[in-house]
Amino acid sequence: MSRPGSWIRKCRGRCIEVTMSTVVTTVDTRLHTLPPVGGFARFSAVDYPGHLCAVIYTQGCPCRCRYCHNPHLQRGCGQSGISWPAIMSWLANRAGLLDAVAFCGGEPTAHKSLQAALQQVRDSGFGTALHTSGIYPYNFSNMLPYTDWVAFDIKAPLARYADVTGVPGSGIRVQNSVERMLSRNVAYEIRTTVHPAILDASDLVTIARWLKLLGISNWVLQSFNPAGCVNAGLVTSYAPIDRELLDKLREHVQNILVR
Ligand code: SF4
Repeated sequence: MSRPGSWIRKCRGRCIEVTMSTVVTTVDTRLHTLPPVGGFARFSAVDYPGHLCAVIYTQGCPCRCRYCHNPHLQRGCGQSGISWPAIMSWLANRAGLLDAVAFCGGEPTAHKSLQAALQQVRDSGFGTALHTSGIYPYNFSNMLPYTDWVAFDIKAPLARYADVTGVPGSGIRVQNSVERMLSRNVAYEIRTTVHPAILDASDLVTIARWLKLLGISNWVLQSFNPAGCVNAGLVTSYAPIDRELLDKLREHVQNILVR
């Protein structure tokens, strides 16, 4: 049972008592040197399934996916309108109202120092979600011990990865990351953005076979989202995935959710 001014939170299978003073006074000084925040959403019900979370968008991403709906975050400008200590103090007042913080981008794992932020959020009694393209396997791997749930993008078949991301060698890096993630006890969602001008039916079947080889049986196919996309051609040429193709994909990956 919690005392007044405190709350009990389950963290990695343990019940811990978190007090307001704990959260406010333990703001880590390393947070002052963390990557600049590109955006901050105070409330989301969709960025960590089953959890209410705040969302922090980091700046900078090496990829240039044509369907990107945050292209303004691809090049880090190095400045932020909101500081990490301010976010942590704000978070302290959301105890009992929010479950977690989700880190999106940009590419959050581009910043080694984000590990300290994940750790601080965890230490404050909140869960952590990390959205990633998996393009930095080493950094990603170091962040996994402080991450409760990963949204992992598989963007293309291995042989076509650079066509979609614009980064040579990105497929091997992503394969490395996904294997590191699967070897750890962390909850995850594998997802792929679907647009017929970027991935055709045979690309999707090739990805499905790859996932099967990896032992993955759940897959989210995300419909292209035109919001924020600056590629006019993609916006006008979108067509939803057809049922027949879905049946074919399910021969390889049992549980497919179209979102
Ligand atoms: S990896 Fe994500 S943030 Fe980076 S360009 Fe692609 S869609 Fe945009």
